[in-house]
Amino acid sequence: MKRIEFFHHSIDEEDIERANGVLRSIFLTTGKEVEEFEQKFSQYIDKRCTVGLTSCTAALHLSLIALGVGPGDDVITTPMSFCATANAILHAGARPVFIDVEEETGNLNAELIESAITERTKAIIPVHLYGQMCDMKRIKKIAEKYNLKIIEDAAHAIEASRNGIRVGELSEAVCFSFYATKSITSGEGGAISTDNRTLAEAFSMLRLHGIDRGAADRYTKRYHHWDMPLLGWKYNMDNIQAALLIGQLERIEELWQKRDLLWKIYEMELTNVRGIRLLKSLSGFKHARLMFTVLVSPDKRDALLWTLQDRGVGVAVNYRPIHLLKYYRETFGYREGDYPVAEEIGKSTISLPLYPALKEEDIKYIVKVLKEEII
Ligand SMILES: *Cc1c(COP(=O)(O)O)cnc(C)c1O
Repeated sequence: MKRIEFFHHSIDEEDIERANGVLRSIFLTTGKEVEEFEQKFSQYIDKRCTVGLTSCTAALHLSLIALGVGPGDDVITTPMSFCATANAILHAGARPVFIDVEEETGNLNAELIESAITERTKAIIPVHLYGQMCDMKRIKKIAEKYNLKIIEDAAHAIEASRNGIRVGELSEAVCFSFYATKSITSGEGGAISTDNRTLAEAFSMLRLHGIDRGAADRYTKRYHHWDMPLLGWKYNMDNIQAALLIGQLERIEELWQKRDLLWKIYEMELTNVRGIRLLKSLSGFKHARLMFTVLVSPDKRDALLWTLQDRGVGVAVNYRPIHLLKYYRETFGYREGDYPVAEEIGKSTISLPLYPALKEEDIKYIVKVLKEEII
């Protein structure tokens, strides 16, 4: 039987060789390779500074902490995301306040932001769902009016821009993931980019316990005493992760173009198919093309998930909305009906395979199975 993986990373022999180089060297943790990656990533994203971390969850957490968001504060975000987005707000001691999403795109509905703002609101975390950017100009206007910080969750959207606005351009801090199924990956990994050097210095200290010197400073040169002026976490990216990422970053546009092409084949094959709705790719955007999803009738969705897998097609659900996860229901009393648009997507969505190594004939097979089974 045909077997099509849900995801396959794009690490190549050169990436492995670069990582081997680190393994053969003496220095494995945060050092030269991390610095090189941070510099190259800053250039690509067009921000002054990047700080390499162990995850996007860590990036979101440190962004909130360094921007002074904590207990007693509210942060507005979307329920249509991976739970990491809202969990990071809880890790910071603040409270996530969800607003519903746009039916067409699944992105947080910027029209609803103002009605959710109170005295307690300190920040907004937009998530650029599947790779398509939120309306950052509008979000920025609201943030300025109410003096709120913006932290972007760009885990899906490294390559994205919208009407000339690059991801991260209008926010205090933008957070990225290099988790196993993201467009470039080190298995686990993440980063924050910012134009604010003071903030970047805070991130650098907070990623390593709040210590005032990195390990490379402490050990590769002469030993110096160090101090710990504040309490931080243990979130620093290591040289092995960075070595895996450097080459992928050099190929990032090439990898994007392959996904873009595959995406368009999916779109062509699945537009106007009865029983299937696609989210809209708005014009004037560079969609990062991270996840391709189809929306089907909720009473058929789960059966389709199982039959697609039975016929060899890897699938996922991104996402069942955060507010309906057990912990959120029980802790905050959320119920079905609270965010109906996000819930409808959560009940209807199926993520299909999308990655540079996927072949056109794989898509043809997936589409054939989908069309046969949806009837
Ligand atoms: C993957 C993902 C995260 C979490 O990334 P980690 O690096 O695994 O912490 C956060 N937000 C979104 C939208 C994601 O898809």
